[in-house]
Amino acid sequence: MTRLRQDPAFDALVPPAATLRLLGDGYSWAEGPTWDACRQTLVFSDVVQNRIIGWTADAGPRDLLRPSHHQNGHCTDAAGRLIACSHGQRALLRREDDDRWAVLADRFEGARLNSPNDVALHPDGSLWFTDPTYGLEKPTEGYGGDKEIAGQFVFRLAPDGSLTAPIRDLDQPNGICFVSHDRLLVSDTGADPATHAFIIAADGTVRHDGVFVRVSPGLTDGLRAGASGHLWLSAGDGVHVLTPDGRELGRIRTPKTAANLCFGGASGTTLFITATDALWAIETNESAADIGLPTGA
Ligand code: MG
Repeated sequence: MTRLRQDPAFDALVPPAATLRLLGDGYSWAEGPTWDACRQTLVFSDVVQNRIIGWTADAGPRDLLRPSHHQNGHCTDAAGRLIACSHGQRALLRREDDDRWAVLADRFEGARLNSPNDVALHPDGSLWFTDPTYGLEKPTEGYGGDKEIAGQFVFRLAPDGSLTAPIRDLDQPNGICFVSHDRLLVSDTGADPATHAFIIAADGTVRHDGVFVRVSPGLTDGLRAGASGHLWLSAGDGVHVLTPDGRELGRIRTPKTAANLCFGGASGTTLFITATDALWAIETNESAADIGLPTGA
């Protein structure tokens, strides 16, 4: 059974008749999905197989880049261009119109980044990304190398190209999403796995607002905020759907561990889930939260 309903309100978000559709399989560690609206393509990574894949309704899944230098998380920027976290290049990248990849950030105060993992666009045009060490430590997920930064930070890349590190006290910051322009969720997949909330003040300073939730089984890697205000978090058994204050309404269960998810498709209400070796989709009544992104983002 795909759905596990814990509250009747779940039916309004995931209809009782909704089922998982298998869109692709044979992957080693599927991750980093985002909906590329400009190209009507679901882009995701197989971090271990060192490729990124594009799925379209007409053509199904096809390789977009191989080798991908172990790209992981993706989003689109204010102009709709694809943004990628690269373990191998230890950088945040942007795909240009001619399909070349430009390096947006690869150093902080002179030191190389660890291995950027996931990224989200803020309404002011800045790109916020996490930088845990998995690409340095796991031989199948990067090219190794020495750690140069004294921590695992959450970075903010401003539209003018300046890089700051507003969050420095998580162990292994991983998934990242904005719930609104002033509220951020970041999952920590380190020693004490949890999803943390942060408040972004008008002057740009960031304040920890406590642990939002700890899922079970497993942990949260990727996560997304919905237009209804609900939160959709990956877990060991699929995707958990929570109220804005963290109460669980139900689950979409996947056969294997879910790493990440995103909304997209022609209507915007398809939930795509990368779950270990497979890409799944399920139709919902939810779409990505409107956090005030510029038109085209
Ligand atoms: Mg991740």
